[in-house]
Amino acid sequence: MGGEIVRLETAFMLDASSIKYGPGVTREVGYDMKQLGARRAMVVTDPNLTNSEPVSITLEALRSEGIDAVLFDRVRIEPTDVSFKEAIQFATDGRFDGYVAVGGGSVMDTAKAANLYATYPADFLTYVNPPIGQGRPIPGRLKPLIAVPTTAGTGSETTGVAIFDFLEIHAKTGIAHRALRPVMGVIDPNNTRTLPRMAAACTGFDVLCHALESLTALPYHQRPAPAVPGLRPAYQGANPISDVWATRAIQMASQNIVRVTEASSDDEARGQMLLAAALAGIGFGNAGVHLAHGMSYPVSGMVRDYVPEGYPSDHPLIPHGMSVTLNAPAVFRFTAQANPERHLYAAGLMGVDVSGAAPEDAGELLASALISLMRRTGMPNGLRGVGFGPDDVPQLVAGTLPQQRVTKLSPRPADESDLKQLFLDAMMYW
Ligand SMILES: [Zn+2]
Repeated sequence: MGGEIVRLETAFMLDASSIKYGPGVTREVGYDMKQLGARRAMVVTDPNLTNSEPVSITLEALRSEGIDAVLFDRVRIEPTDVSFKEAIQFATDGRFDGYVAVGGGSVMDTAKAANLYATYPADFLTYVNPPIGQGRPIPGRLKPLIAVPTTAGTGSETTGVAIFDFLEIHAKTGIAHRALRPVMGVIDPNNTRTLPRMAAACTGFDVLCHALESLTALPYHQRPAPAVPGLRPAYQGANPISDVWATRAIQMASQNIVRVTEASSDDEARGQMLLAAALAGIGFGNAGVHLAHGMSYPVSGMVRDYVPEGYPSDHPLIPHGMSVTLNAPAVFRFTAQANPERHLYAAGLMGVDVSGAAPEDAGELLASALISLMRRTGMPNGLRGVGFGPDDVPQLVAGTLPQQRVTKLSPRPADESDLKQLFLDAMMYW
């Protein structure tokens, strides 16, 4: 070992998209695109949404402002490098000067990638996160992208991250850079009205976990400093500004998650959840997530035959938010000892009475609060509930090891044997 001293980070920054919130606000997207100077826009969506109200309102709003709006509806749910490349080709051929994404995280992430490679053409792996890609910084500004989420989950409208499945090696990876961030998130509660019950639960838990993980992530000043400012990662670790957003998002998501799954007509709860997704997005987009997310990628990637209620039944799927949540109670039981105060604070934000709680109770209190919400919303009982058993653990661990970009933000380092135990602990909760 050399005697080199690691210089620790001393700075943090907040990047955020503009946010416009309100029922019916999708109608203003033409005005906003025009303000941004776009004359020809690619409208990105997925095949399920082609004929939906959010898409038709968006197209109409753009065209009524004289913007040439071209629809691309071939986004794959849980996108891959192949589906990204299809969108990139469409974007490159179309010579667009603006982008509008109407859909969930898959749609928004695909639009980010299309915008990036059409604006700064490069070999596909150039900007992809290491170790799979080269992780080169994006050279400059992209064309304006407005994101119109139709699920209250990823918060992708406020983050500079685009996640996809790299098919060759069957691993989730992504592109992360602040330049990828949409210029505006248009948050319209009317757009989530058709979300099925289980989709509302999964996306709601994704919001909650984004906020809980960013609040409990390794603090920014315990991370190595970047060699030059341009290399400071988007995921900086917990910091005083991201804490503010995470705190409020935890309260809002935990107060509304049961309501949004019980009644899709509960406009107030849906509005709150959508806003919570954006707040959590600003928090984790600047702080990062850690183990529950890092461990979720192989869980989703190794799905065998599980088809969640209310999702298309043509292919097995463990939705992103579900795979994150199934790991989360085990993760917080493990990470609490690194920072019991923060874990107790988080449990308190979820409504748990933490007065008089001892530091060693922190992990259990937070895990129990999550498990209680999982039971009330009909989530599967741990990884066993979606078809995994102890025999799958070595492969689940192998699939987590490449997710260093997020797992290194765990407040308590997790090596291979820790990960193994975490997956075993996540098998069954009640
Ligand atoms: Zn997530």
